[in-house]
Amino acid sequence: MPGPTGASGRVVVVGGGMAGATVAKFLRLWGGSQVQVTLVEQNPDYPSSILSNLVLNGSTTMDRITFKYDTLKNVYGINVVQGTVSGGDIDKAQKRIRAGNAWYPYDRLVLAPGIEFDYSGLPGLEGLSYSQLPLHAWIGGAQTTALRNQIANMPSSGTVVITIPPAPYRCPPGPYERACVIADYLKKKKRGARVIVLDANPDIVAERHGFSTAFAGIYGGIIEYYPGAVITGIDVATRTLQTNVGTIRASVLNVIPPQTAAKVVMDAGLVPFGSVRASVNVLSYESTIAPAIHVIGDSAAASPQPMAGHLANAQGKVCADAIVRILSGRAVDPSPVTNSACFSPITAKTASWLSVVYAYKPPLPGSTGFGRMEAVPASFAEAREASSEHYEKMFKWFGNLMSDTFA
Ligand SMILES: Cc1cc2nc3c(=O)[nH]c(=O)nc-3n(C[C@H](O)[C@H](O)[C@H](O)COP(=O)(O)OP(=O)(O)OC[C@H]3O[C@@H](n4cnc5c(N)ncnc54)[C@H](O)[C@@H]3O)c2cc1C
Repeated sequence: MPGPTGASGRVVVVGGGMAGATVAKFLRLWGGSQVQVTLVEQNPDYPSSILSNLVLNGSTTMDRITFKYDTLKNVYGINVVQGTVSGGDIDKAQKRIRAGNAWYPYDRLVLAPGIEFDYSGLPGLEGLSYSQLPLHAWIGGAQTTALRNQIANMPSSGTVVITIPPAPYRCPPGPYERACVIADYLKKKKRGARVIVLDANPDIVAERHGFSTAFAGIYGGIIEYYPGAVITGIDVATRTLQTNVGTIRASVLNVIPPQTAAKVVMDAGLVPFGSVRASVNVLSYESTIAPAIHVIGDSAAASPQPMAGHLANAQGKVCADAIVRILSGRAVDPSPVTNSACFSPITAKTASWLSVVYAYKPPLPGSTGFGRMEAVPASFAEAREASSEHYEKMFKWFGNLMSDTFA
């Protein structure tokens, strides 16, 4: 750990996931000993969403992809506090935040709490309690294991129905990847079973070539894919869906709902009217509404950057660099760059991938608005086909990303 660097101040981070753990670590690494960092996280450890689809075909377990906060605490000297922060716990006027019974003063606050699910547009699901709702398994954890168990216990001629919300949602290739790994499992263990994918989008949102090849090829007769699907009713008791392609009865119902910024971000008043994510200046991820509060990861509106863990890690670093500069009286980097890579398992032995780089584009001269990140066209790359080599590289990529975030 470096000693004093010229930066000094107190930073509180809410949410110890891909974005929050990264910003906390790099604030200490780049800011040095005079930057005090408190990380408030509701859970004792971090169950990864990335690779969690592999739990569904038995290739891994949630235990094996759950990460601890010990290194952040013991090596980087971050004050890790277990607690859940609500909008009312943020005192913007006095620049302090409450977690548990204690107040933590801050010079800069970073909110990185991920996503919230929005069931309001899913007829039949509004108003149901958490335990009555069908599984989303869209935040890695107990729901992932529960979905795996439902699939393992369903009849051998059963049907798994996956619904995909309109983009943007967390992990664009994720739902298609999920259909593939479940189909892979059914092909081996439950011949006669199938996967029905009801996609609210007009077409496959990411890695179109790879997934459509898999759906029509190795999973032909197992995966039925319906783009432009409209769901007009869901009866949870009978697992029956009314849709524009007919009435569908599921053995296992996996509804991935639309997603918004997490509740604490909404309740803190950081999401402009008509939007569902926090408005930020992507030079520093500072809120455009509340000074000294930054929002990173899936709660931030920072498109076209996708809602993805690799990107959340990259945003964590841009934000850490900006805060260290602010705390040492310097200007923030005027031209940040981020990148994202995403590996998608297609079977229990093969995977595909895509990657892209984003660069800052300033606002037009004379404009009072903010700049935005833009994809660098020449940087876009995608696997030509799924392979076992990519499958092995997927674990190396995951190991590196999680080490960069938690170790
Ligand atoms: C099936 C699946 C596969 C995926 N695969 C990939 C992939 O291959 N590549 C990729 O880049 N991304 C992938 N993703 C997406 C990635 O997981 C998310 O985009 C990423 O985790 C977002 O990071 P985040 O920090 O914003 O949120 P999270 O990682 O969800 O972290 C949020 C943290 O905040 C905590 N928290 C929430 N509210 C509070 C509160 N009020 N108080 C205190 N703590 C709170 C939560 O407990 C959590 O630890 C995948 C996602 C899924 C579901």
